Amino acid sequence: MSELIRVHSADSHLMEPDDLWLQALPGDLGQRAPRVETDGTYEFVYVDGERMSRMLNSFAEQFRPPGATDLVQRLEDLDGEGVVAQLAFPSRGFWICGISDRDLHRACAEAYNDWAVDEVIARTDRVLPAAIVSTIDIDDAIAEVHRADSLGFQAIYMPTSVPVGMEFGLERWHPLWGAVEETGMVLAFHIGTGTNNVVYRGPGGAVVNYWETCVPGQRVVTHLVAGGALDRHPDLKVLIAEGGASWVPALADRLDEAYRQHGPLVQPKLSMLPSELIYRQVYTSFQHDVSAVPAVEAMGYQNVMWGDDYPHLEGTYGHTQETLHTLFDGANADTVRKMTIENFEHLFDVPALAPV
Ligand code: MN
Repeated sequence: MSELIRVHSADSHLMEPDDLWLQALPGDLGQRAPRVETDGTYEFVYVDGERMSRMLNSFAEQFRPPGATDLVQRLEDLDGEGVVAQLAFPSRGFWICGISDRDLHRACAEAYNDWAVDEVIARTDRVLPAAIVSTIDIDDAIAEVHRADSLGFQAIYMPTSVPVGMEFGLERWHPLWGAVEETGMVLAFHIGTGTNNVVYRGPGGAVVNYWETCVPGQRVVTHLVAGGALDRHPDLKVLIAEGGASWVPALADRLDEAYRQHGPLVQPKLSMLPSELIYRQVYTSFQHDVSAVPAVEAMGYQNVMWGDDYPHLEGTYGHTQETLHTLFDGANADTVRKMTIENFEHLFDVPALAPV
């Protein structure tokens, strides 16, 4: 048996109960909130009177770890996999960003956060939920950022894909970025989420669509850098989760070239190069990409973390140690420590590692 690699996961998920919002919200709000119905074969998601998704269910269920919906069992799962702490995104909570009614949107976000406090934050310091805030009303979002901070959250979740006219470089977002920066929480984007995702039904669709989910994460960073958000909020830390890592040095090159070669056209001017802002403030997490270690060791992009994507189908439950050894055997010890433990602990307060 090879040596146990202990690791923090910067990309995991909570699994909300089917009826979370129905139970938590009064009458009409509860009826309009995200709701999952299954007929044994298919899963239907209803949000505010619309059916937003239909997925095959049985396939995913076969691979679901035993602790997906049970925190005590989940911690045992983590022990078995060598995972110490997890940043935990929503699963069904991802649907909230598609709600166009301001009050329903805010109420669903608050109900999710209250549930995450009761079920997770109050019971363990090893699973760190990211709070959901409104993406359609900035005042509501700022109020929830401060409430989340007081409740013990360490990250704010944001969707990567937003409609045209809502791009993250726009002035409308700056008060929110300022509020998150002030609390010291991490602004945590997760790929494949949001309201404007590309879906292709032709040849290779499953692979094409997986790639398409990653593109908006790169767009988020581009807008935050070029629009001046990272420059104006130097203490804001941004995470793009589950989108790989080695695209970051390549993107930094692209943006530097644009900034330099198109200099006379560039507005706003930045106080440093795009690549410097990216390397200072943008973090990524990946689970399987073999190019992530070279991104750190050969290309000098340090802010890379690993993620187990527990309990999702794309995750590493059941083969976490095998995956970690494939990725990290051959990397130098400093790199491994940084990617598995130190970068995560730079962003988040976690329980001290027990001696092995
Ligand atoms: Mn994930």
